[in-house]
Amino acid sequence: MFVPHVIDGADTESLDGATFPTVDPATREAHADVALGSAADAERAVTAARRAFDEGPWPRMGFTERGAILHRLADLVGEHAEELALADTTDMGKPIDDARGKDVPRTAQNLRFFADHARLAHGDALPMDPDASGSGHHAYTRFPPAGVVAAIAPWNFPLMLESWKIAPALAWGNTVVLKPAEDTPTSATILARLALEAGMPPGVLNVLHGYGPDSAGAALTADPRVDRITFTGESGTGRVISAAAARNLVPVSLELGGKGANLVFDDAELAGAVDWSIKAIFTNAGQVCLAGSRLYVQRGVYDEFVERFAAAAEALVVGDPKRSGTQIGPLASETHFRKVRSYLDGLEHHGGKILTGGGGEGWTVTPTVLVDAPADAPVQREEIFGPVVSVTPFDTEAEAVRAANDTPFGLNAMVFTENLSRAHRVGAALRAGTVWVNCFFVRDLRAPFGGMGDSGVGREGGDFSREFFTEPQAVVMAI
Ligand code: NAD
Repeated sequence: MFVPHVIDGADTESLDGATFPTVDPATREAHADVALGSAADAERAVTAARRAFDEGPWPRMGFTERGAILHRLADLVGEHAEELALADTTDMGKPIDDARGKDVPRTAQNLRFFADHARLAHGDALPMDPDASGSGHHAYTRFPPAGVVAAIAPWNFPLMLESWKIAPALAWGNTVVLKPAEDTPTSATILARLALEAGMPPGVLNVLHGYGPDSAGAALTADPRVDRITFTGESGTGRVISAAAARNLVPVSLELGGKGANLVFDDAELAGAVDWSIKAIFTNAGQVCLAGSRLYVQRGVYDEFVERFAAAAEALVVGDPKRSGTQIGPLASETHFRKVRSYLDGLEHHGGKILTGGGGEGWTVTPTVLVDAPADAPVQREEIFGPVVSVTPFDTEAEAVRAANDTPFGLNAMVFTENLSRAHRVGAALRAGTVWVNCFFVRDLRAPFGGMGDSGVGREGGDFSREFFTEPQAVVMAI
């Protein structure tokens, strides 16, 4: 199979014909050749997006017409659900049930939500005080599209996170060059083809494949014809992209890494806390920016919780991600597998012991529960991005909050308690862009999403996406 770029409405090979393989982590064999984008290909993709923005119909269409195309695209995503789900599962090893049941439906939902959000949004009308002569002024706000958006995506929820970026960008009338992660190219090409089928004009949604540094990704961020950069990925890459954006004074939205704290208090409803905590760390084999990888449990329930939590971790079905029923597949790539393993191999040196897990065949790591890791151990400080959780007891609420906030990351945290006051108090004290109380991963697409500190810059979602993907304008009229 060959996975091409999609530029200016057409399947496109790289100018120099170069390709790279994409590997199925379950078989550890290449399953497709992918067009390897160079700086020259990035230049072509931006040219197409620029032309579609400057001269094409997309930014000039009404919200209703654009929204109808996005809804048609959502319909097509539904019709091609199996193909899209299989593409992500084959590229990165995510369990097919998750791809079918969560990623693909959420992709369609993102497209529909932002189409409707843009159509129904309203600006402000601001009657101003009359001046000395008695005549007044009136200000109102407009939200014209920003222009060409470069969207750079990670590999952990390929299609779903790509749609989270492109849906609001497109709904507000921008044109896009999407660069999927090199490990997960396939679903983006399918999506761009479906967009054309849905009636999106050529050049509005372009897909450019290739690597980041010194390659297609970096070229995209350096191009002065790009008006917005939206990036999701590692915090280190975020710093590099931020520097590139600064050179052209381009607004950038960065959704970066995490090291989510999960606090379970004595008064928690324990069965629910165990169940959600399992989901929080082992969904997508822990390859989730929001993973609850630091689990703090109050002393009174520590033993019982850990016993039930470890048993639930052992009960997860590990295996072939393409088989329905599998809950834990392989890690996405050999490089990533080696990274996750290095944390387990480092325990001997840094402290901490494996209560359960730590095994696995091929590039799989079985659900792993660590105890006794010191607060300064790498497993407590760094984003492992795998099915590895460190459990630590605590005594007081203040101690739990301090431990949770003792991290450069600030993406999300979870709190399990039946005490209403404590839920609000602790939620407000946590330095995190999202706090989930007695749940995990539940999203309202109107809510702000993003992180503090090393977890990112800016927020996306609802009106927050509008602020980023438009150039808000004030018109002031004398009346
Ligand atoms: P990554 O930073 O390695 O790569 C992400 C993307 O950036 C890829 O498309 C890559 O090709 C590109 N890239 C890399 N270097 C670049 C450069 N110099 N210029 C331009 N593009 C470049 O991240 P990853 O390993 O694909 O994803 C995992 C990371 O993403 C984790 O840290 C995870 O926490 C984070 N993440 C964050 C969120 C969030 O919403 N905050 C969501 C999912 C994943």
